[in-house]
Amino acid sequence: MFENKAKHRQGQILKNLRAVSLHNKFHEYSHFLAERHSMNDISADSEVIQICANNLPIKSRAKSKGVLHKYSIRFNIKYQAKKLSLLENINESVQSRCLSNIDFPNSRGSNSLSMDSKCMTPSKISSKPMACLILPEISGKRANIYHFKNNHSEGGDPEKPITPVMQSRLIENRKRAISKPPENKELDSSGEFTDIESTLVEKSAKNKTLLLRSIYDKRPATIFFDYPKCCCAKEKSKGRVFYMSDKKLAKQYLTFRISESFLYDCIINTLTSAGFSETEDEDFNINIGASIDTDFMRDLAPFQKNNHFPGSSHLGRKDMMWKHFCRMQKRFEEAYCFCPETYILPDDCRKLNKDREENPKDLWILKPANSACGKGIKILTKDTEIKKKQGVIISKYIKEPHLINGFKYDLRVYVCVTCFDPLRIYLYEEGLVRFATVPYSTKRKSLKNKCSQLTNYSINKDSPTFINNVDPSKDGYGSKWSFKALREYYESRGIPSGRIFQQIKDIIIKTFISVESHVVGKLNRSCSRRDACFEIYGFDILLDSSYKAWLLEVNIYPSLSCSSPLDTKIKYMLICDTYNLIGITPFKRPLEPPPPIVEIRAKKSLEVSSLDKCNNLAEYPLTLEDALIIVEGEEELYRRGKYERIFPLKENVDYYLEFYDIPRYNTLLTSRYLKYGALKDIKKFFRKAKNPINV
Ligand code: ADP
Repeated sequence: MFENKAKHRQGQILKNLRAVSLHNKFHEYSHFLAERHSMNDISADSEVIQICANNLPIKSRAKSKGVLHKYSIRFNIKYQAKKLSLLENINESVQSRCLSNIDFPNSRGSNSLSMDSKCMTPSKISSKPMACLILPEISGKRANIYHFKNNHSEGGDPEKPITPVMQSRLIENRKRAISKPPENKELDSSGEFTDIESTLVEKSAKNKTLLLRSIYDKRPATIFFDYPKCCCAKEKSKGRVFYMSDKKLAKQYLTFRISESFLYDCIINTLTSAGFSETEDEDFNINIGASIDTDFMRDLAPFQKNNHFPGSSHLGRKDMMWKHFCRMQKRFEEAYCFCPETYILPDDCRKLNKDREENPKDLWILKPANSACGKGIKILTKDTEIKKKQGVIISKYIKEPHLINGFKYDLRVYVCVTCFDPLRIYLYEEGLVRFATVPYSTKRKSLKNKCSQLTNYSINKDSPTFINNVDPSKDGYGSKWSFKALREYYESRGIPSGRIFQQIKDIIIKTFISVESHVVGKLNRSCSRRDACFEIYGFDILLDSSYKAWLLEVNIYPSLSCSSPLDTKIKYMLICDTYNLIGITPFKRPLEPPPPIVEIRAKKSLEVSSLDKCNNLAEYPLTLEDALIIVEGEEELYRRGKYERIFPLKENVDYYLEFYDIPRYNTLLTSRYLKYGALKDIKKFFRKAKNPINV
């Protein structure tokens, strides 16, 4: 699951090489891009090359006297031809990873592309469909080039935009392209073959960064992410939103750091459209990557955010997650029976064989413990011989899933955790219903057909019966639905939608509580801040014919690729709402050192019992940090967008506290606040504080 070192090195070499998948909804998207980059003259029907240089390295921005300018890059035609030759080399390897519709223009003839330097709309281009190109380096500065065509074909759904194999091919191709000038290409005036010449043209530094004012006095504002037009969503209420002043923007520029595996359009575009630029340095506002080690966490300064919690691999690995559930089942039995009975090989072989003998009619499903996209999955009957392999789990197969029109489906539920101590869990209102593409049956022949038994998009997308949604406003047909369409379907047939989603919430909360002590232990050892991490999880839920919800797995790297307008709509909204929810605060460089909170934590564990007895927070000697915990929770609730907080709530906090391994001061405090505290008191307390934290 985590990047290994070799892959990381390759990633470094290819840091600037990006491939972003096709967008079906070109019209909306080009307008969206045009607006974002103040390029009003892009026509919806034209093909567009969009060049963003907003991820210039910090140094070049520092040179511009501290003012963050937006740049565009003007190409001249002859160099464009050279660029295309480079892209042609890349093309081979892109094709090799089966991104079906990605292709690049023919570079024959240096005039194959000409460009109006002002609006950057190519007046002539090869007729081949083109996806999105991002160039490695331009005169030492990095630039991304996006190219969209008015084309309704869809891109692939790569879990990882650049695979290790592809990376090494790209490195090879790139070396070849740079060292050997291809035939028919001109040298530039200096006689050297340089990649591309570019001229940086400063555009008016029109400020596009919005801030959202806190609901508390003296608390910092956070960056506001508005839904792009491709979400077809209603305007968000902007009562507390204001533009960040140019003066502030100059001092507090916004940056994100991202690793290759997370190059999703929705992440990059959401951040860049709010004024963020990419950095490779340590002073990022938000880090989007996979692996996190203790040192990395320890060095996080105030305001910096990381997109993973240490220890959440215990949820992402199917075997580890099952071990946690087994531990919980010993304590709470029925309450933790929402995951199909599972055996971890080779250790549980004997128990599995016994179970199979006792239940010969049952079916089983074999899965690699640490894999995704339906890879290596097999359905087993009573006669299938099982090899004692390491790294494999076998689970009881849900033989009678709930079907819609005869097809099996599962739910991809998006959940965000903003803090583990105190635990705060949010469920996203929208999600994806993913259908198998061959009618369901448990006949022998059908059991071998993955498109009948598995609901993974990666498996079904290649099926001839896969139906893609092309219009996000007409939902509830084809191979992927939104939750809105599913709820409507349930309601129209009297299926208890409310009860089903209530079960799902219960599963989610109990799942996080099962790993709570593991994650908090790791956090306390490696990080001095409560709000340093957040994480988006993808819960895969299967419903059986009696409407019982089963948890199949938790994805700690849910795919955020947008292979249809429906995906685009849901995932852009999800990312906008997530970044609003977590609250990204601009900050001044250089970074402040991380605060030492370790001693306060130790003191807290002693106070758990006295707080436990308290039934009126007004009488309890709250510290400034206590008040902050409450304030952070309230602020988050205000910024939640389409997220619903599912834990802690006044009505459920006491029930779920019973499942904790050890009582936690911060959760107890939140529980007492929800039950007895009043926002007014906290506001009063907070105003009194001389120097509220983070101001
Ligand atoms: P992966 O991580 O490879 O996607 P999953 O655990 O999500 O593995 O399983 C892939 C698909 O297999 C699911 O989407 C579901 O359709 C089917 N599946 C998995 N486990 C079960 C089960 N216990 N019973 C019935 N179907 C299952």
